[in-house]
Amino acid sequence: MSLLDDPGIDFDLTVPVVVIGGGACGLVAALSAHDQDAEVVVLERDPTPRGSTALSSGMITACGTELQKAAGITDDTPELFARDIQAKADGKADPDLLAAICAGSGLTIDWLVSAHDLDLVLVDGAPYPGHSRQRTHAPPTNSGSDLMADLLRAVDKAGIDVITNATVDNLIVEGEHVRGVQIIRPDDSTERLGCGALILASSGFGGNPGMVADYLPDMAGSFYFGHVGNKGDAVRWGQALGAACKNMGSFQGHGSVATPHASTVSWALLNGGGILVNGMGKRFCDESLGASELAATVCQQGKNVWSIIDRRLHDGALRFPDFAALKQLGAIKSGATATDLAHACSLPVEAFEKTLADLQKSPALAAPYYAIRVTGALLQTQGGLAIDKKARTLRPDGVALPNLFAGGGAAQGISGTDGTGYLSCNGLLSAVTLGRIAGFEAAKQASGLPTPASATCNRTYRT
Ligand SMILES: Cc1cc2nc3c(=O)[nH]c(=O)nc-3n(C[C@H](O)[C@H](O)[C@H](O)COP(=O)(O)OP(=O)(O)OC[C@H]3O[C@@H](n4cnc5c(N)ncnc54)[C@H](O)[C@@H]3O)c2cc1C
Repeated sequence: MSLLDDPGIDFDLTVPVVVIGGGACGLVAALSAHDQDAEVVVLERDPTPRGSTALSSGMITACGTELQKAAGITDDTPELFARDIQAKADGKADPDLLAAICAGSGLTIDWLVSAHDLDLVLVDGAPYPGHSRQRTHAPPTNSGSDLMADLLRAVDKAGIDVITNATVDNLIVEGEHVRGVQIIRPDDSTERLGCGALILASSGFGGNPGMVADYLPDMAGSFYFGHVGNKGDAVRWGQALGAACKNMGSFQGHGSVATPHASTVSWALLNGGGILVNGMGKRFCDESLGASELAATVCQQGKNVWSIIDRRLHDGALRFPDFAALKQLGAIKSGATATDLAHACSLPVEAFEKTLADLQKSPALAAPYYAIRVTGALLQTQGGLAIDKKARTLRPDGVALPNLFAGGGAAQGISGTDGTGYLSCNGLLSAVTLGRIAGFEAAKQASGLPTPASATCNRTYRT
């Protein structure tokens, strides 16, 4: 991944707005640019665009939406939303960027639903911990795959080209100005695409073990549960162009991912009375600290960590498809007594019996018991390129680079500076809201730039 700075480079095609990455941020950015009448192309490395978005639960927080109003929630405001996010981030989210994201969140959901027919609902029930109002929107299935399918349908309906099997390996620049990109195909052939403005929506660096070790040393070597194709390209290009990065130590982790089954086990089980024990049969943390906060601590315990629950929690969780699937896969051990469960999990019997006997948690665990082997995992990096409220990438002196935008996992997050500041759904909130802002601003900028007469995109240009 690097920059080619050679004014002699020609392009196979020039398009006003180019988007790198076909996840939630990239597809929303493309829809937004398209709605400003800009011609736009999305470049995606994979044969089918999925990204971390498809791995997620598709849950997007937003305030002041029509869906909230229809549910009788009329008092959610950008200020309240921002306060909730700052409370979790210990006040370390950039206030201007956060204000822009919160103010734009409701508009983004309403626009996706009304202009692009996205099938989103307001999630039922009490707000997620840390949110003062119910503001979580999701596909009816709570499936990130369904969110991606819906976005791809909308993009297709709009006639936007998503070019797959197209890994961008180099930006073609002149000084700080991005002239275009170079794509490498699976057969190693290359193509060059010129642009008026470039949007980096290629997410974070979770799929790059070296960058994880550099920026998130506590999570080095941990299981990465996000999209493996997210290798930090945006950060590396931005840095090479002179952009600043922010919050690089920030991440969304999870301290309870079933292993080797690779499925998150809801933290609600631990908040509801469950405990984590290590290979010595002992507790090692206060589970109420939270899923992301404890990801690194769980990793440090090695490969033999168990989430312990009882029948009440087990039976309640069976209605969730992920948990039911774990049951079917044989991931859930059981024991009529603490002794039986210790044997089933090869835990030291005496120590484990003592752990349960000494337990002072409310509600208390009661026999029979169940256990799932879990590990800590990195879900999504939350730091990235410094941006302003127009999603323009910034140099360290605060000056915007001329035509380079970033959003979603590619950009600085709003989740503080470490693994403790992530409020649930900050990831997709940033992806879709910044996607909309970046698409709008890039289209505005590109429309003011002269583009060659041949700057028209052949709609059949895709794999
Ligand atoms: C298990 C799990 C559950 C989650 N649940 C939620 C949730 O419910 N709510 C929430 O808000 N967040 C959730 N998150 C976080 C959320 O998924 C991410 O924050 C969000 O999807 C990021 O969107 P994005 O568009 O920036 O990146 P992505 O969706 O990852 O898309 C980036 C795309 O860029 C492509 N790409 C990368 N490099 C290149 C290149 N050089 N050339 C071309 N293409 C490239 C990738 O292939 C990928 O398709 C979850 C994450 C995980 C892992």
